[in-house]
Amino acid sequence: MLAAERAGADWIHVDVMDGHFVPNLTFGPKMVADLHRATRLPLDVHLMIERPDAWVDRYVDAGASYLTVHVEASRDVPRALQAIRAKGVRPGITLNPETPVEAILPYLAAVDLVLVMSVHPGFGGQPFIESALDKVARLRAALDERTLTAELEVDGGIKPENAARIAAAGATVLVAGSAVYEDPAGPKAALAKFRAALRR
Ligand code: ZN
Repeated sequence: MLAAERAGADWIHVDVMDGHFVPNLTFGPKMVADLHRATRLPLDVHLMIERPDAWVDRYVDAGASYLTVHVEASRDVPRALQAIRAKGVRPGITLNPETPVEAILPYLAAVDLVLVMSVHPGFGGQPFIESALDKVARLRAALDERTLTAELEVDGGIKPENAARIAAAGATVLVAGSAVYEDPAGPKAALAKFRAALRR
C-alpha cells in the first residue's frame, strides 16, 4: 500500500513528465502500472508530455482511472479525449497558467475532469499562482451553466492554508504534493489538516 493511501488520500495524482513539454522527467507507463498494482485508489494520471495522443493507449493499459491531457500539447484534443473514453477511462483536460480558460471551454462536455494548473508544470514545491482562483471560478460557472458534472481539480502550491479558498472558488478535487509528503508530522497529519481546513 502507498504511504498516501495509508494516510487517507482519496486518489493518487501521477504527474507524468517527459523532459520536453516540461523540463523534468518522471513516471512512464511502467511506473503507472506498478502504482496500479500497489494501490486500490483511483490513479489520476496527468500527462505533461508532448503529443499525448500517441501515449493514451499505454497509460490506459497501465491502469489510469482518469487520464488528463494538456490542451497545449495535444494535436487533436477531441480525438484524444474520445480515445480515452472509448477505453473506459475518464478523460480530463488541463491548461497551463498562461493559457486562457477559453482554450478549454469547447471540451468541457467531453471530459470528466477539468484540471487547473496553479503552478508552472514541471517541478514540485512552487508557490500557488493566485490568478488560478479566477480560472477556477470561471470554470465552475461554465460547468454549472451547462449542468456538467465534471470534477474541477486544482494542481500546484496547495496547502491546508489555501485549500478552503480554492474549494470556495468551486474546486472539487485538490492535488497536494509537498504539503503532504514534506509535512514534518507526516502524510497522515497533513491530510488531517486539509480535511479540517475544508470542513470549516
Ligand atoms: Zn499534476
